[in-house]
Amino acid sequence: MTSDPEERRDELAKALAAVEERVDRACAAAGRSRSEVRLLAVTKTFPATDAALLTDLGVLDLAENRDQEAGPKADELARLRPGAKVRWHMVGRLQRNKARSVVRWADEVQSVDSLRLADALDRAARARDGEPVDVLVQASLDDDPSRGGCPLAELPALADHVASAEGLRLRGLMAVAPLGADPGAAFERLARSGEELRRNHPEATEVSAGMSADLESAIHHGSTCVRVGTALLGGRGLASP
Ligand SMILES: *Cc1c(COP(=O)(O)O)cnc(C)c1O
Repeated sequence: MTSDPEERRDELAKALAAVEERVDRACAAAGRSRSEVRLLAVTKTFPATDAALLTDLGVLDLAENRDQEAGPKADELARLRPGAKVRWHMVGRLQRNKARSVVRWADEVQSVDSLRLADALDRAARARDGEPVDVLVQASLDDDPSRGGCPLAELPALADHVASAEGLRLRGLMAVAPLGADPGAAFERLARSGEELRRNHPEATEVSAGMSADLESAIHHGSTCVRVGTALLGGRGLASP
């Protein structure tokens, strides 16, 4: 990655064009409209100056996975690009004691995986001015609690809880594909969970699935939101999550 802003802009523009082409092709192959799939740029570990260049290129949906990093970055981007209509998304594991901090910068939290976390976010959202927080409930597709996500069997109760919270707006589901397994089968299960969810919550239309390595498979299985880090911004190195 170059430190020259002009070169970095070109680098990001090329990477964005390549990702857009992958998304276009995947949508066409699935017989879906490109407008059905949001592209989130996952800017974790990259500086606010990169986020600013992405907004210049028209990418206004940005995502982070750690509150400590995201809050200051969102503030800095607001200084760098005061007019940009950016939406920030929290996609990482979240402690309840961070709820107050997260609702200061996040318009949408995609990683709500427990009743207690939903309650903490609801309280924090109601305590501050502004719109309710958009929420995706995170489903576990591998039953590994250390990777986050709510077991599929408990998802309906969690979704009901979020939908009834005044400070939250249930928008759908999110998941990360299991490590070392066929992502397609996991995305297929997620899609079925989404269909079930919409029987009781027709407004919960979002299915957030697919990252740099598996966005084609996710779009094939109905993803409405791909979260792309590496393919847009480059590698994060070994020490980074
Ligand atoms: C880092 C991250 C991504 C992006 O992953 P890449 O493989 O770099 O595209 C997507 N979703 C979540 C939850 C992440 O933490």
